[in-house]
Amino acid sequence: MSQGLLTVSYIGATILFILSLGGLSNPETARRGNLFGIIGMGVAIVATLMSARLAHASTLAPIIVAMAIGGAVGVFAAIRVKMTQMPELVALMHSLVGLAAVLVGYATYFDPGATLTGAEKTIHEVEIYVGILIGAVTFSGSVVAFGKLAGKVSGKPLTLPGRHQFNFGLLIVTVLLGKVFLNAHGVGEGLTPLLLMTLIALIFGVHMVMAIGGADMPVVVSMLNSYSGWAAAATGFMLSNDLLIVVGALVGSSGAILSYIMCRAMNRKFFAVIGGGFGTSGGTAASSAEAPAGEVVAVSAQETAEMLRDAKNVVIVPGYGMAVAQAQHTVFEITQFLRGKGINVRFAIHPVAGRMPGHMNVLLAEAKVPYDIVMEMDEINEDFPSTDVAMVIGANDIVNPSAMEDPNSPIAGMPVLEVWKAETSIVMKRSMASGYAGVDNPLFYKENNRMLFGDAKKMLDEVLNHLRASA
Ligand code: NDP
Repeated sequence: MSQGLLTVSYIGATILFILSLGGLSNPETARRGNLFGIIGMGVAIVATLMSARLAHASTLAPIIVAMAIGGAVGVFAAIRVKMTQMPELVALMHSLVGLAAVLVGYATYFDPGATLTGAEKTIHEVEIYVGILIGAVTFSGSVVAFGKLAGKVSGKPLTLPGRHQFNFGLLIVTVLLGKVFLNAHGVGEGLTPLLLMTLIALIFGVHMVMAIGGADMPVVVSMLNSYSGWAAAATGFMLSNDLLIVVGALVGSSGAILSYIMCRAMNRKFFAVIGGGFGTSGGTAASSAEAPAGEVVAVSAQETAEMLRDAKNVVIVPGYGMAVAQAQHTVFEITQFLRGKGINVRFAIHPVAGRMPGHMNVLLAEAKVPYDIVMEMDEINEDFPSTDVAMVIGANDIVNPSAMEDPNSPIAGMPVLEVWKAETSIVMKRSMASGYAGVDNPLFYKENNRMLFGDAKKMLDEVLNHLRASA
């Protein structure tokens, strides 16, 4: 393929990626956005394989074998993964982008064909150094995030004494090693500072994510998403591939915007997050927080069905437990039933509900819940006082009043869905256990709150049966 055709294909792919991001910004156009992304990536892969640089059988063969192996692993993972494991899978994918940047960095450094001299050589070495740095931080940070999301690593923040000074020290050493690397004569001499920097970047990635408490994880997920984009852009610079630079920058900047949105949702400071210097300094461990007291009133599925049937306004608040129970389809059937009886049913979505950005929207879209009754937190919070029944399905942290009432709570200041302002709130979960942030929830003890204990899918099936029986 000629250089001209390659450039045109890359521009076409770039436009498709931009359309894809535009589509993904709204649930109604998300499917189309995904399709644009798939076509764009298809164009990018075919054009790159046909480019003059690669179009030799000896170069193409190992690439196609590698793609077949990687593709098979990807398809296998996509088929096997449960919806509830999606956040871990995403974290793992981010780690692979970081690892790729590190490997490409070393391969570029060892490239025997490199003949650059003077300023061009220095710029190329800076690209390699920065690329490996971002890649290594993304890799190790994402592996720890995977561990935390999968419950293999404790969600408790690791707050070493003097950790900010430690991070600052790592930064200084990284800059000094960079100077040594750029002044080195020959590959052999530059390798030691490069390896040392990689080790430091790996330690920094681990330390940064280990220091983050459970409640702050959404910001970490979106931040690592952004870092993976910058790692891809750095790879693009090392390989002199314009499309990779553009795509990396698109992912990096959209991830940064998502981080900003998550920060606002959690009331955290954006710049502190971008610097990685944030944590849970304002909070205390869950065990030291004052345990809420009072009585918990349990209700049956039949009583829940009666309350729903007698209501005029119902707001459903889904959380991570709905994903675990795979209850979204039954939720939709109940919604249809109630709407058929003239009851106004709406959904309230907290920005950090579930375990990844947009988690609840994906599940509700899968169950075909109409978009116009799915409200964001800001749109619906003021409607709770005029709501008859707020039905909380497997949610906990996002409806925890201590975020507003207890300044010592680890989630203090985080805006939450104020379900307790409804005439009655019903919380559906299996036990009195706390949510991801490990914080007790005083909502359960409020006078107007009822608890429907059990697996969300099982209980909702029972509620639906009672509703149908009474129709
Ligand atoms: P939570 O984790 O706070 O609560 C979920 C609740 O669901 C649990 O208390 C659990 O209680 C219940 N549950 C689990 N399985 C079932 C089941 N089968 N049936 C019924 N209930 C079930 O989730 P929320 O969605 O309220 O809040 C999200 C939390 O996750 C926040 O702390 C957020 O910061 C964090 N987070 C969010 C990310 C994001 O990007 N959205 C990423 C990482 C973390 P029980 O065991 O008693 O059933």
